[in-house]
Amino acid sequence: MKFLLLGVILILIYFIFFRKKSKVVENSKNSNKEISADEFIPCEKCETLVSEKEAIIVDGKFYCSKECGGVK
Ligand SMILES: [Zn+2]
Repeated sequence: MKFLLLGVILILIYFIFFRKKSKVVENSKNSNKEISADEFIPCEKCETLVSEKEAIIVDGKFYCSKECGGVK
């Protein structure tokens, strides 16, 4: 009975360790995705790098700010 319990504990420890390892791999994959998803584009006017989310698009061109894009 004690031997069986020890075996279960060992399996649990193995699973916890294995899960942690796989989680690390998942995290590194996610961080890579974040980098590729948040691409930086140079401003058409001043060439300042801006993320795709923050960039202002005027006539299909990317600008870092409204001032560069000529938007008032
Ligand atoms: Zn600019």
